[in-house]
Amino acid sequence: MTGMTKKIVLVGTGMVGMSFAYAALNQGVCDELVLCDINKERAVGEAMDLNHGLPFARSNMKIYAGDYSDCKDADIVIIAAGVAQKEGETRLDLLQRNVDVFRSIITPIVKSGFNGIFLVATNPVDIMTRVTYELSRFGSGRVIGSGTTLDSARLRYLLGDYLSVDPKNVHAYVIGEHGDSEFVPFSQAIVATKSIISVIQEDSTSYKMEHLKEIEEQVRTAAYKIISAKRATYYGIGMALTRIVKAILNDENSILTVSTKLNGEYGINDVYIGVPSVIGRNGIKQVIELSLTDEETEKLHNSAKILADSFEGLKCR
Ligand code: NAD
Repeated sequence: MTGMTKKIVLVGTGMVGMSFAYAALNQGVCDELVLCDINKERAVGEAMDLNHGLPFARSNMKIYAGDYSDCKDADIVIIAAGVAQKEGETRLDLLQRNVDVFRSIITPIVKSGFNGIFLVATNPVDIMTRVTYELSRFGSGRVIGSGTTLDSARLRYLLGDYLSVDPKNVHAYVIGEHGDSEFVPFSQAIVATKSIISVIQEDSTSYKMEHLKEIEEQVRTAAYKIISAKRATYYGIGMALTRIVKAILNDENSILTVSTKLNGEYGINDVYIGVPSVIGRNGIKQVIELSLTDEETEKLHNSAKILADSFEGLKCR
């Protein structure tokens, strides 16, 4: 925290960035919001548009288009900038191009004297968060990715619907890569204080394990469905980013499945991956180690290996 004023710089004013900005304005999460984009005109237009909603907002907020020197006294820099895949381009080529984009963003931000927390949303988010860590050389606790925060929200919503209970009383996580190898450790899922597995076992006429597996698959494939219906996903991630920002700025010690660097937890090292973590004013306070079954541990290790392999070969320095 740099002072009493809560200041956020958003890099990337596309659909994801602006969905965050709109949610942040409506929830009054900060005092100052700076919009940066390689397309400066777009950032200027977005700032104008948001400012025109201020008379209807719950609190005042200074919103303007700026540049990386504005990061100097910011509490959080959110990165939602990205480039789309070109025709014929491999996933690895796209990744390397995004690394180059990140270099052009992170180097001047660090030079500005920024001393806050990086929060990354750009996909593949676990890799781009690790890239941010490598490029910034900040302590790992101060570099966070949105990870599986949104996926866990999707899961809780679907489980709440299935069990006919308020999703707020469902405690369950999606962990691992924000992508195809993510999974739900159902051994750790509870409703109120009761294990979901025992809820299923006690009422096997109403509930079935295969339905839980279907819900897990629905969560894993949600982004594909939304993208095929409306080309991109943005409201959910915008609200997930807002939730993470609130946890940081209000020093909440909230537990969210952000992408964080593992240093031996779960027997994994040097990989950014989505796991439940305690989040406060200085970023990641602690990684929560769930008591996973052997099968779940194997799935997490598999996910971590996929991420480690994807990172290998990228030129970050
Ligand atoms: P978008 O194309 O609408 O916006 C990207 C923005 O980045 C554009 O405004 C573009 O001008 C800007 N940009 C490009 N290069 C830049 C640079 N060098 N410097 C500054 N700005 C630059 O895309 P979107 O739909 O907003 O998605 C953004 C990213 O978020 C993508 O990588 C997407 O895959 C990701 N995403 C993540 C999640 C998640 O759960 N983490 C969910 C949805 C989307």
